[in-house]
Amino acid sequence: MSLTPSRPQRIAMVAHDNKKAELLNWADFNRLTLSKHELCATGTTGSMLEYELGMHVTRFLSGPVGGDQQIGAKIAEGKIDVLVFFWDPLEPQPHDPDVRALLRLAVVWNIPVATNVATADYLISSPLFDSDYRPQRPDITQRDHAEVAA
Ligand code: PGA
Repeated sequence: MSLTPSRPQRIAMVAHDNKKAELLNWADFNRLTLSKHELCATGTTGSMLEYELGMHVTRFLSGPVGGDQQIGAKIAEGKIDVLVFFWDPLEPQPHDPDVRALLRLAVVWNIPVATNVATADYLISSPLFDSDYRPQRPDITQRDHAEVAA
């Protein structure tokens, strides 16, 4: 692990509708820090963040029509370092399988995930956030071989 400053973190952000205000407030409060990093988001979340922050946010499709899956694919490709995902625990989502898949891939690929404001606060105030820290990617090649051989 290295703490040498500092490569931009590639931060993906997603918020369900009832959580968008929380994410916008959090992003606005942390706008200076976020301005040093590369931001991407699902469609509606991204539009709102771009408007609120006045910063470029790479936008994927809206979550329910594939945006969550696009972000999951980027995580699998090693192109996202941090996931801030304010999902709504009080309302059923039509794309629940995609939501679960995104959270699952973040764990598979050892990506730090904040799913509420408190965790996002811890994450963004960590010294690692302003370093060139990159989470260690698991070596799944070995595992694939073991399963094929079994
Ligand atoms: P949205 O998608 O940013 O397009 O609203 C978020 C989600 O519901 O996954």
